[in-house]
Amino acid sequence: MLIVMHHSATDEQVRAVTDAVEAMGLIAEPIPGSLRTAIGVLGNQGYVDDTTIRELPGVREVIHVSKPYKLVSRDFHPAPSVVEAGGVKFGGGQPPVLIAGPCTVESEEQMLAAARLVKEAGAHMLRGGAFKPRTGPHSFQGLGVEGLKYLRQAGDAQGLPVITEVMRIEQLETICRYADVLQIGARNMQNFDLLKEVGKLSYPVLLKRGMSATIEEFLSAAEYILAEGNPRVILCERGIRTFEKTTRNTLDLSVVPLIREMSHLPIVVDPSHATGRRSLVGPMAKAAIVVGAHGVMIEVHPDPDRALCDGAQSLNGDDFSQLVTELYRLQGLLVSV
Ligand code: PEP
Ligand code: MN
Repeated sequence: MLIVMHHSATDEQVRAVTDAVEAMGLIAEPIPGSLRTAIGVLGNQGYVDDTTIRELPGVREVIHVSKPYKLVSRDFHPAPSVVEAGGVKFGGGQPPVLIAGPCTVESEEQMLAAARLVKEAGAHMLRGGAFKPRTGPHSFQGLGVEGLKYLRQAGDAQGLPVITEVMRIEQLETICRYADVLQIGARNMQNFDLLKEVGKLSYPVLLKRGMSATIEEFLSAAEYILAEGNPRVILCERGIRTFEKTTRNTLDLSVVPLIREMSHLPIVVDPSHATGRRSLVGPMAKAAIVVGAHGVMIEVHPDPDRALCDGAQSLNGDDFSQLVTELYRLQGLLVSV
């Protein structure tokens, strides 16, 4: 429920409303606006009888929000959020953030080389998986803690913040020692216990859309994190499962402008996992920027043909560098439109 106050409502009237909400055993969250204050009501399991609230002085309107997500919605937070992560800013009017690096941390040398390539090309953040969610148990599962060390070392060598995936609650403490941003992958988007746990931390979280998740489920997953007190969430569209098999997934680009309408949270796009094909990564990264993505996450490997994971969708240093030049040119065009 959202209580909208008259623009002339006094601080005392706002306080009387929040007191009344709290007396009903609910949580009141004032949302100051440039024209008027609204009060978000949280904690209700179902419909809230609003008769007493409606009659309080200063109340203009009571809106029942039936969506399962509230804190992530524009209703509760009309202004876009800017999420700071490892010194990089996502969202609002900030220029798109370029996250790049290999799918998986394979060795110290590979990570140092990858970090050098992506930094020279102009990336802002280094990625690399140390704990990998592989479809089959016989595939390389990642180097674990050793991988985290190489990732951190490579990021530090190039002055890049680092992002890596967390799959289980028990990994959190260790991963937080090495990473600037926690990634929750598509397969764990509805691992509600993990979402709650990262919600208790102050670390920024990049939450990827599940491969068969609706937008409502995606935003509800983000709501879990915000509901525990962590507002530093960056959403990531990475393609969804459809009947099409020529591409790895189907990139649902319309979610970018749609999520920008529905939510104040930043949204980035991962064209690598969305397409699974090197040749499509550049075109879809550009398309993502044109439709308003707050960043792109791209898999880059010093030697993609020898990559232990996702080589077919990884760019080499030269191709990534060329793409970044084109993305910056595009960004310049967009700014001047
Ligand atoms: C990844 O980014 O390393 C990854 C596994 O992606 P996703 O969770 O989107 O499949
Ligand atoms: Mn990958």
